[in-house]
Amino acid sequence: PEEPLPSILHRNVQKWAHKPITNFYGAVLTYGDLWRQISRMAEALSRLGVKKGDRVAIMLPNCPQYVVSYYATLWLGAVVVNTNPMYVEREIEHQWSDAGVKVAVVLDHLFPRVEKVYSKIGVEYVIVTSFRDALPRHLALLYPLKARKQKLFTAVPYSDRVLPYGKLLKSNPPTEVQCPATLDDIALLQYTGGTTGISKGVILTHRNIMANVVQITKWFPDLEWARERIVCILPFFHVFGMTACMNWALYTGSYMLLIPRFEINEFLKLLHKFRPTIFPGVPTIYVAIVNHPDIKKFDLSSVKFCITGSAPMPVEVINRFEKMTGSIIVEGFGLTESSPVTHCNPLHGLRKPGSVGIPVSDTECKIVDIETGERELPIGEEGELVVRGPQVMKGYWNKPEETAQALRNGWLYTGDIAKMDEDGYTYIVDRKKDMIIAGGYNIYPREIDEVLYSHPKVLDAVTVGVPDPYRGETVKVFVVPKPGETLTPEEVISFCRERLAAYKVPKLVEIRESLPKSAVGKVLRKELREEELRKQK
Ligand code: ATP
Repeated sequence: PEEPLPSILHRNVQKWAHKPITNFYGAVLTYGDLWRQISRMAEALSRLGVKKGDRVAIMLPNCPQYVVSYYATLWLGAVVVNTNPMYVEREIEHQWSDAGVKVAVVLDHLFPRVEKVYSKIGVEYVIVTSFRDALPRHLALLYPLKARKQKLFTAVPYSDRVLPYGKLLKSNPPTEVQCPATLDDIALLQYTGGTTGISKGVILTHRNIMANVVQITKWFPDLEWARERIVCILPFFHVFGMTACMNWALYTGSYMLLIPRFEINEFLKLLHKFRPTIFPGVPTIYVAIVNHPDIKKFDLSSVKFCITGSAPMPVEVINRFEKMTGSIIVEGFGLTESSPVTHCNPLHGLRKPGSVGIPVSDTECKIVDIETGERELPIGEEGELVVRGPQVMKGYWNKPEETAQALRNGWLYTGDIAKMDEDGYTYIVDRKKDMIIAGGYNIYPREIDEVLYSHPKVLDAVTVGVPDPYRGETVKVFVVPKPGETLTPEEVISFCRERLAAYKVPKLVEIRESLPKSAVGKVLRKELREEELRKQK
């Protein structure tokens, strides 16, 4: 379609006005309701001076206000800057001043962090909302009590620059502004997760995000338009949840179950009740499900398929999950710089566990020499994965050098080491920056992680390279045992010794209760490595 997403959404509303589109703890909005809120919010933003090209930050977990703020911003041709609700002042300050944010929409209990920074970096208005604005009546009444108990309660000092979301929606009429955005205008500055370095603003156009939604839709051809039910546990502020949950659902008329935070017991109850048909997730979520002691009590049989991506998925977990639930997990691959999906395993064709599948439509990929980035490598050889397609970003915001590094002749250099098999399936071997070089051997932490996950007592595990005076680097693993199990470092080492070449066997093992994870659930390898470096100093 040659139209930006907000215009398509607007047309869908006419088609499906009475169809439920969001469910937030039982509060249901139809397409019509949602559009009325978007239109009023667009008017409110426009009266605050937001115009085409201006940047609007959204710092909210998954809730209806997120969807409303996102589409109201896009409708005005303005640019969404997604902000991770876990960010602290320093990170908010860096991101919002880098992006030049004019207006921010934030959740009430995050406001204290925003309060200290917004005026010094030129943010003109902060719109504050509460979960209460979207909960069903009986829960909204109880919400202040609950928030106080969880120490989330914040009395927001409203002023002429700090404005209540609920009142803005009530006091503004539906907008008469027509969406001025074209496909080549910027829709988002999407900051990368920053698991490997400083966070950069990825410029995604309307064409990019639209293209990826269409690519995913084509990938699942038996999708029943306006009938599917999608679990939205992946955060919308991250590119995976934004595209594969929210934008996809609004494009196809699928009903969204909005979940603002992941707590396994509550999550399973919500799933059981909602009866979703599509469940996009990340490995940590599926790991939590297969290890849940009461999993048999929950009926997940309505799920037709799951889509995983964003981090390596242990094959062991795919097998267990599929056996347990009867559904299918298709693994895909992508990155912020490509809106994000570039590869996926087919739902009906040949699925290869351990591989991220083949390129989605209109997408090309090749494996090139890691050092030069030029020579294309033959089948089976490991090199850097590069991709090309309509979902690939325009560049990094204000970072010409990084842009030139990442985008060469239209190809996006992913920084991932991969290989391809004779059927064209891609296998992610590791990330360029995560590779460990021990005594001259290249070691891919991912391979060791896979072995650890196949240990029956292991819940979570991660491998990092730590400095070693003799071998340059050496392998250290962090392991979390399953609840009720105990593990010793010796057990872990002997298990690895039977399954890995000697140079890959961990020299150091640390047993922990949990691992640090990013907002989308990726283990923060870098954080653990830095911890080790600090210890050694
Ligand atoms: P940053 O790139 O800033 O360090 P990040 O990991 O949060 O942080 P994203 O754009 O969210 O950035 O993630 C993209 C990366 O995630 C890819 O480059 C790849 O390394 C990894 N990834 C995505 N899908 C898969 C997958 N199926 N298997 C293995 N790795 C994956």
